[in-house]
Amino acid sequence: MDHEATWELEEAADCPSCGAPRVGGLDGCRALFDRLGEREFSDPEFFRAHRLTVDAYSLQHPEQFMKSSKSAAAHLAGMCWSMERGRSTHLPAPLKRWVDGRKNYARLTPPPPRARGTVTVIDVLDAEDAAEHERRVEAWARSAWSAWAGHWSQARAWVVEALEGSRAGV
Ligand SMILES: [Zn+2]
Repeated sequence: MDHEATWELEEAADCPSCGAPRVGGLDGCRALFDRLGEREFSDPEFFRAHRLTVDAYSLQHPEQFMKSSKSAAAHLAGMCWSMERGRSTHLPAPLKRWVDGRKNYARLTPPPPRARGTVTVIDVLDAEDAAEHERRVEAWARSAWSAWAGHWSQARAWVVEALEGSRAGV
């Protein structure tokens, strides 16, 4: 196989982690995520969706972004909060205290799902404006969160633990 043919194959590769089609594999997918992040950091209107963007991408790329039990807990509990208790630009204070303060995190059981949602980073790129961007990120996040249904009860328990710890002043 000559060099050009190899290159074309790589260009056409789906992301092995989230399944985004023809993005150039894992590296290509990551480049799209970085592009999304740049747009969010360059405009406060777009930045409102940033935390949800990071959690959605992480849930679809757990081998990279949820390797430690701490990051797994942070992204799952963070996403749970966004989906069920409301959005916020930054991690809600009780959850931040819980993430920063905890020493022992339960291992993920079961392991991450193999199918991680039908909406991927490629569907979120190039929104016309911030409102459309937010809608797309929302659909993406819902898709990723649904794929993790087997971990919802764990995530909810973490959120409750964070709230209780916060009330107790821990
Ligand atoms: Zn991917």
